[in-house]
Amino acid sequence: MDKGIYVSLLPKGKIKRTLTTESGEVELPETTIADEIILFSELDFEHYAQVVELLNTIADAIPSPPKNLTQEEINAYDLLLDTTEDLVTTLEQEDLLCGTMTRTLLEDALPPGCTSPASADQTKSMLLRAVSDPMRFQFLLNSVLYDMKDGIALDLDKKYCALKELVVSQHLILGDELTARYHFRSVATYYCFLLLHFIVMKPRVLLCQCCGRYFIPKTKKETLYCDRIFIRNRTCKQVAPGMKHQIEAMRQTVIDEFDRAKRRMYNRYSRALDKKAPSEKDLTLSEYYEWLNRATAARDQFVKGELSQEEALSIINVP
Ligand SMILES: [Zn+2]
Repeated sequence: MDKGIYVSLLPKGKIKRTLTTESGEVELPETTIADEIILFSELDFEHYAQVVELLNTIADAIPSPPKNLTQEEINAYDLLLDTTEDLVTTLEQEDLLCGTMTRTLLEDALPPGCTSPASADQTKSMLLRAVSDPMRFQFLLNSVLYDMKDGIALDLDKKYCALKELVVSQHLILGDELTARYHFRSVATYYCFLLLHFIVMKPRVLLCQCCGRYFIPKTKKETLYCDRIFIRNRTCKQVAPGMKHQIEAMRQTVIDEFDRAKRRMYNRYSRALDKKAPSEKDLTLSEYYEWLNRATAARDQFVKGELSQEEALSIINVP
């Protein structure tokens, strides 16, 4: 089978997935579209983003157009290709799905033989685009979740026009009945496919009032808390009622402030991404993920009573 991920849609929002890697086929655990969406929205790209920034710095040392490259510039180009290979190999070890799909995207973006210094221009821009693809999609996904949580209608004409149409490769398999399987070779198209199904399912996206993370309630019943393990093997749903007073008091402050700050920080990063008018306040990718990790830890420690509200807010709200 061709490399990439194969997905079959099952009843009740479940999916079955087979990942085809360099070394064979891996059956991934059965999951639901909603769980997979929430999981990807929270993936930590901090170290990955640092390497992507390094790649950008290396790429800046290669002139455009790449005529008569000096030995130093050819070395920079080789370093760019080697570092990308290391990055993808490490990602494959840490996250088989994202790693494999980034490799297949790179294979599609950079056909064999186009890596000679003469095509350095094209190669470096395609390569930088491909390695930042998972993070770009994560930003878009978080923005969609944010709007869904606030009940804002998704702006498919402008803000999310990328979601309006998706070309997918569908395989029809004739057995006792006709079944369909979808094939993807990039992280963004796979998650985009799931996100489109997620949106039309019209799920209720809620912010857990204990841990402050997004969740989709499994039933129609009113609920404020999620089923993640929060402390000592107990879930938010189990511990929150006993902490109701503390949680009520902090709800308007740390948890909501974290959510607002995340949005603000994301805007500061995306302005820099557009490169139209980056200001001093704009963030690089890795600065954004560094902040996110620090702020998430501060929020969690605050909820567990390990940090004061003041301390937590001073970490979450950076100038
Ligand atoms: Zn929770």
